Amino acid sequence: MTAKIIDGKAFAATIREKVAGHVARLKEEHGITPGLAVVLVGEDPASQVYVRSKGKQTVEVGMNSFEHKLDADTSEADLLALIDTLNKDDSVHGILVQLPLPKHLDEDLVINSISPEKDVDGFHISNVGLLGTGQKSMVPCTPLGSLMMLRDHHGSLSGMNAVVIGRSNIVGKPMAQLLLGDSCTVTIAHSRTKDLAEVVRRADIVVAAVGRPEMVPGDWIKEGATVIDVGINRIERDGKNVLVGDVDFASAKEVAGAITPVPGGVGPMTIACLLANTVTACCRSNDLSEPEGLTA
Ligand code: NAD
Repeated sequence: MTAKIIDGKAFAATIREKVAGHVARLKEEHGITPGLAVVLVGEDPASQVYVRSKGKQTVEVGMNSFEHKLDADTSEADLLALIDTLNKDDSVHGILVQLPLPKHLDEDLVINSISPEKDVDGFHISNVGLLGTGQKSMVPCTPLGSLMMLRDHHGSLSGMNAVVIGRSNIVGKPMAQLLLGDSCTVTIAHSRTKDLAEVVRRADIVVAAVGRPEMVPGDWIKEGATVIDVGINRIERDGKNVLVGDVDFASAKEVAGAITPVPGGVGPMTIACLLANTVTACCRSNDLSEPEGLTA
């Protein structure tokens, strides 16, 4: 069996199109332009690339992009003061603080200072609690994008055995909550899991979010299973720098029913879902009906 390759790049483009349509309607019918504020502290090169890309795509779908670049030695008080200003600014519907923050800043404190309604990353403790109790929340972008791809491929996920490898707060745990919300039987595996190969072999759905290049070989995958590879790992191969996932794509695609590639799978969905979350936040804050198909 050769797996269907789930094209995250193409799927993300359809999400952006939907978002752009809603943005146009919000402008035309209500005179509202959704706005996303991105705060970057310091000069981490990867973060700078992400922030540039987020800003560009925000503008491309017709939304306002507000970028705030602060020095690496910015004090916690100054950062919290900026977030307070953004919380109160009616033209800002989404706020994202790019992680990681420099070590002297308390990430939890900073994230929890964002108004939960504007927390488009879905990391605020209120949103974590709402998601965990099956209530309407802002959903973290990478798990949301992964869920959208699974729903698109399968329709209903009800009753499927899902294994999420990785228990981070930003991917593994919210992913497991979303799958549970769609009535999967969910196992969360992690670095202390025994017989990981056997655990993964039971799965109809495998979500790998570990950060270890190609650690899941094809012979761990059940015939016909759907594999969502969240990992992004930069390695050197044949003298070149290449990106690979947490799954060994070459062997896994021979067994899986469907699989996301790296790059071009989950990655592009993440920013698309950030834009989707911003439109959703804008609609909610203005008591307007939410766009369908853009949230969990
Ligand atoms: P993390 O380091 O916070 O968490 C990794 C998890 O993997 C931990 O819970 C740990 O228990 C588990 N783990 C580590 N070694 C393991 C092992 N040998 N067996 C089983 N589990 C093991 O990472 P994260 O932030 O969740 O990110 C995971 C990967 O996803 C990274 O490669 C990251 O770059 C990528 N990522 C991609 C996107 C995207 O947009 N596609 C977004 C976020 C993260």
